[in-house]
Amino acid sequence: MALRFFNTLSRSVQDFVPLDPAGRAVGLYCCGPTVYDFAHIGNWRTFVFADLVRRYLEFRGHTVTHVMNITDVEDKIIRRVHETGQSLREYTGQFERAFLDDLQTLGCHSPQHTPRATEYIAAMLALIGQLIARGLAYQAADGSVYFSIEKYRGCGCQYGQLVKLNFEAMRTGERVANDEYDKESLADFALWKTRVPEDGDVFWPSPWGEGRPGWHIECSAMSMKLLGTSFDLHLGGEDLVFPHHEDEIAQSEGAGGQAPGQRFVKYWLHGAHLMVEGKKMSKSLGNYFTLRDLLTKGYAAREIRFLLLTAHYRETFNFTLDGLAGARTALGRIDECVGKLRELAGTAPAEPEPALLQRFTEAMDDDLNISAGWAAVFDWVRDTNRALADGRLTPALAAAALAAWERVNSVLGIPAAAGAEAPAEILALVAARVAAKQAKDFKRADVLRDELKAKGWVVEDTPKGAKVKRA
Ligand code: AMP
Ligand code: ZN
Repeated sequence: MALRFFNTLSRSVQDFVPLDPAGRAVGLYCCGPTVYDFAHIGNWRTFVFADLVRRYLEFRGHTVTHVMNITDVEDKIIRRVHETGQSLREYTGQFERAFLDDLQTLGCHSPQHTPRATEYIAAMLALIGQLIARGLAYQAADGSVYFSIEKYRGCGCQYGQLVKLNFEAMRTGERVANDEYDKESLADFALWKTRVPEDGDVFWPSPWGEGRPGWHIECSAMSMKLLGTSFDLHLGGEDLVFPHHEDEIAQSEGAGGQAPGQRFVKYWLHGAHLMVEGKKMSKSLGNYFTLRDLLTKGYAAREIRFLLLTAHYRETFNFTLDGLAGARTALGRIDECVGKLRELAGTAPAEPEPALLQRFTEAMDDDLNISAGWAAVFDWVRDTNRALADGRLTPALAAAALAAWERVNSVLGIPAAAGAEAPAEILALVAARVAAKQAKDFKRADVLRDELKAKGWVVEDTPKGAKVKRA
C-alpha cells in the first residue's frame, strides 16, 4: 500500500509521490519557533508531529532534507526587544538555545537546516525585488512594500488555495501592516516594513529604505533557498493556514521560479491544536505549560512525547496532567515487556519479526494513523507477554520481537527510560519491580529491590519514575 497524506491544498487524502523522479529524496519544511519566549507544549505538539513525519518517511526508505527555520525577527520579538533593552541577538539567542535543547530532550531528530531569518535578509530582498519587477508588489506612501492581491489575481494566479476567501468583502488598496490577521481582514500584506522609531536597532538597509521583513516573506525565502522553488512537504500548526501559508504560496508562486506545471509545495500538512479545557493552548490565554514546567513537576520527557503522539495529528487533543500519568503507565508496560525480551534475547542480531511491522506500517501509511499504530504496539505487548509467560519464546524469537520493536520505535522515538544504561538483566528486574508495585504486591517489590542490591544496583523511586544506579 502507498503512503497517503491529507493534503490541505486538495482537501483530500492523496498518495504521496515525491517530486524526485527516483521517488526517494524528499524536501520537508516546517515553520519553526518564533523565539520571543519558551515554546509551550502546544507548540511542541506541532514540532513532534514534524519529527514523526520525517521519521516515518525515513522508515519508508526516503532520504529527507528537513528544514525548520528560526523566526528571530518579527512583530512580537521587536516589542520584547524594545521592552528589555537587549540587543536582538542577545534576546532571541537565549530562547533559540532553549528551543534547540528542548528539541533534543523530547527526542526529536535535529533538522538538517535550522536557518535564522536574520541571516537570510539578502534572499528576502531578492524575492521582494522579483515581486516588484513582476508588478505584484509596490511601495506605499508609508515607505513599506506590500504584496498586491489584486495584481496577483489579475495574472490568473489563485489567492485562496488553502482557504476559501470572500473577495467581495475586500476593498482594493487596503493594507494590513501586522503579520497576523484573520480571513475577514483580507488586504495587501507587508513584505518589507519601513523603519519606525520603536524598531530601535532592528533594521536593515534595502532598495526601499531601512526596514525589516514581514514574517511571511521570511519563510518563502528560507524554504526556497534551501529546498528549491518547488518542494514536497510544508508543515505547520493549523493556525498557520491563513494568512501565513496562503501568503507564502502567493509570494513564492508570484515570483514565478517554478518549472511549468509545478507548485511551490506539493503537499501541505497541518497539525491540529493542543487544547486545554476546550481552548487552544496559547501564551495569550495563559493556559500553557512549557516543557520545563512539566519536567520540574516530575514528568519525564518520554512521557510528554508519548502523550503528544497519542492522538492523530488532525484531531484536536485535550492536554491534562492525568493524561501524563496515563502515559507513565502505558510506557511502563512497554518497558517491562521490552526489558524481559532483552533479558531473553541476548545480544545476537536478528531480523525483525514481520507481524508488528506490517500492522504498524499499514496504520501509518493511512495518513499517519498513529492511534491504530499504538493499538498495534499494545496488542503486540499483550501477545508477547503471554508468550513469555507460557515459555513459548525462544531466544531467537525474543531477538526478532525486540528487533521489530526497535524498528517501530525508530518512528515513535520514545527515549529509553532513565537508568536504561544498566544491563538488560538489571532493567528487567527494575521493570518487574515497577509492575509489582503497580499491582500493589509490595512484598515482591521488596524482594526484587534486595535482588538488585545483591547484584550491586540500587533503585530509587523518583517523581520521574524508577531510577537505577550502581551501589
Ligand atoms: P510560534 O512559535 O508561535 O510561531 O508557533 C510555532 C508552531 O506552533 C506553529 O506551527 C504553530 O502553528 C504551532 N502552535 C501554536 N499553538 C499551538 C497549539 N496550541 N497546539 C499545536 N500547535 C500550536
Ligand atoms: Zn513559516
